[in-house]
Amino acid sequence: MDINTNAIAVDNLSIPLFIEKGIEVSVLRLDKIHPLISGNKWFKLRYYLEDAKEQNKKTIVTFGGAWSNHILATAASCKLSGLNSIGIIRGEESSNLSPALLQAKAEGMQFFFISREDYHFKTIPAELNNDENYFINEGGYGRNGAAGAATILDYCKKEAYDKICCACGTGTMIAGLINSATPHQEIIGISVLKNNHELDKKIRTLLNTDTASFQLIHDYHFGGYAKYKPELIDFMNKFYQQTAIPSDFVYTGKLFFSIHQLAKDNFFMPGSKLLLIHSGGLTGNYSLKNGMLIF
Ligand SMILES: *Cc1c(COP(=O)(O)O)cnc(C)c1O
Repeated sequence: MDINTNAIAVDNLSIPLFIEKGIEVSVLRLDKIHPLISGNKWFKLRYYLEDAKEQNKKTIVTFGGAWSNHILATAASCKLSGLNSIGIIRGEESSNLSPALLQAKAEGMQFFFISREDYHFKTIPAELNNDENYFINEGGYGRNGAAGAATILDYCKKEAYDKICCACGTGTMIAGLINSATPHQEIIGISVLKNNHELDKKIRTLLNTDTASFQLIHDYHFGGYAKYKPELIDFMNKFYQQTAIPSDFVYTGKLFFSIHQLAKDNFFMPGSKLLLIHSGGLTGNYSLKNGMLIF
């Protein structure tokens, strides 16, 4: 199945709290473009894959954990683009692969499992270290990734919003959003990692100007990357009942939860117009116990 950017919609939320607070909140549904190439991952990959093809590379090599959306998205995107894909995976190979790795394998990806220490230093196995391979950083972090993410706002009337909010992992997506926003807009990033002290610096490295206005919020990681509490799952279910929008517990659930909480705390001025980026990630919910989510 090909990428379908025509499916990208803007949903206007009519949650009572937002109406009461006098703010307009819309969601840009990047989750709709493909079932496996999750939302922002295709945007971050698109220019890397073009670049690899221009350089006549046959194989993409990238890094990720066993539950990585980036690994799965890379596998599926490479298949669509006629490229081979190799994933360098953190940690020992376990006898049963995670759902993400199983799906990536079905999309033709080959794996190299390396120790957590080697992974920390992004050590490339010797047999992969050659000119035929095109390397992409973990999470697609880098200039091409940000340039791809900068095209996200082409899929809505971006001038209509004064705040654009997204979840942040590596910061690549938000860097692209900041680079493509108009000067009157503020970009708000919700970090999904705990103690993500490097995030601000990593984002700034990818910006076109050093005067960009953005704000990072570090209070909604729920214990850290891919950690959650019953409160988050309850919220995601309730949010789905109110909006018919499914979210994932690693990224977009934390984004929607935080915006709801910030609105409750009067963080947004009445009259504010918010655009929330639904960056996909729904396949990540496979790691939850069956029945926890109602969607
Ligand atoms: C990877 C991912 C992110 C984080 O994007 P970064 O560019 O790494 O900050 C956000 N949302 C979803 C659903 C993701 O899969």
